[in-house]
Amino acid sequence: MADSHHIWLRDHCRCPQCFHSATKQRLVNTFEIPPDVKPVQVESKADGLEVKCNLLYLSYSGPSSQPHTSFYPWSWLQQNSYDPPLSKPSHPERILWGSKILQSPPTVTYEEVMSEDEQGLFKWLSNVDKFGFCFVTSVPPTPEATEGLSCRIGFIRETQYGKFWDFTSDLAKGDTAYTTMALGAHTDTTYYTDPCGLQLFHLLEHTGGKGGATLLVDGFYVASILKELHPTAYEHLSRVRVPAHAAGEPSALYTPTPQGGYPVLRHADDELIQVRWNNDDRSVMSHLEPGLVEEWYDSIRKWHQLLTSADSEYWVQLSPGTAVVVDNHRVLHGRSAFDGKRRMCGAYIGIDEYRSKLAVLSEKFAPGAVVRETTPYSSVNGRSVWNPSL
Ligand SMILES: [Zn+2]
Repeated sequence: MADSHHIWLRDHCRCPQCFHSATKQRLVNTFEIPPDVKPVQVESKADGLEVKCNLLYLSYSGPSSQPHTSFYPWSWLQQNSYDPPLSKPSHPERILWGSKILQSPPTVTYEEVMSEDEQGLFKWLSNVDKFGFCFVTSVPPTPEATEGLSCRIGFIRETQYGKFWDFTSDLAKGDTAYTTMALGAHTDTTYYTDPCGLQLFHLLEHTGGKGGATLLVDGFYVASILKELHPTAYEHLSRVRVPAHAAGEPSALYTPTPQGGYPVLRHADDELIQVRWNNDDRSVMSHLEPGLVEEWYDSIRKWHQLLTSADSEYWVQLSPGTAVVVDNHRVLHGRSAFDGKRRMCGAYIGIDEYRSKLAVLSEKFAPGAVVRETTPYSSVNGRSVWNPSL
């Protein structure tokens, strides 16, 4: 069995005095726990560990000692073990894909997603979690229905392009998205400190012309190939910061903080967690080490070759009624040039809103072992104080 320090156990007590069972906030005063706190009794029970401590309290009559009993479910202790640390595959169900995804792209229906019971919404967001995108079919081809669909996930993120956008190729905003030009695979808002999380878009109308196919590329898939074939290029993309800007609107001038920007491939604990790539929005590379300039250009050239290879590119001709939601931290999107009148609408949703909704739905439809085993006790408002997210 895993070891835990006494102070760690005492600090993580989830009894009603130490942890607010409704708000799920810490009540224990960590700094009143004696650094050398020791239990007076430890008992292994069928469903968890019971630990009794005597704590000193200052009262009117002087210092007094009070017993305190804490209980920790086995499944929770195991889940949170740090000695030994448990390897936690954060995304056991992620599926990387290439062009062959066209045979069976993740798809749900509008009816499923809008249904009261939220089972279809869970299916939709689980697909986004696994594949980084998902189509929604049979959407009424109106901005109103599309906005309602966006709001199923969470708050729409308002940007310089508006809250819910509905646009044609009239250059109403100073960005190439508002033209008829082809757009290579890119992620959006690379010039934000925190790029938009999900992007939902829906082609409402395309008349009197051709073209305008939608391009999707799994950035995590391409990164995995780059890592395999060109480890040095992968390392450059993971380390070299790339500045970016949005400056097409006189009233706005966006750059990320820090101004040097972020690497194309962002990692946490050695795991790739975000792709940020839009070569059109890149600013001056004034900070490159002189000896790295040629190598860096070579690295992004290799990345570009893999991104634009037939094996990576998934092309799809969207038509009114099919919306798509894309994880902008993973999947790149683009389109071919077009003519005629093309009307698109859509919205951004923050990554935290999406993650929160998915967590709530997972708790309901696919609870993990800790939630399943601890829900009978210590649950208020349907959420256990032992929920692994707390
Ligand atoms: Zn307690």
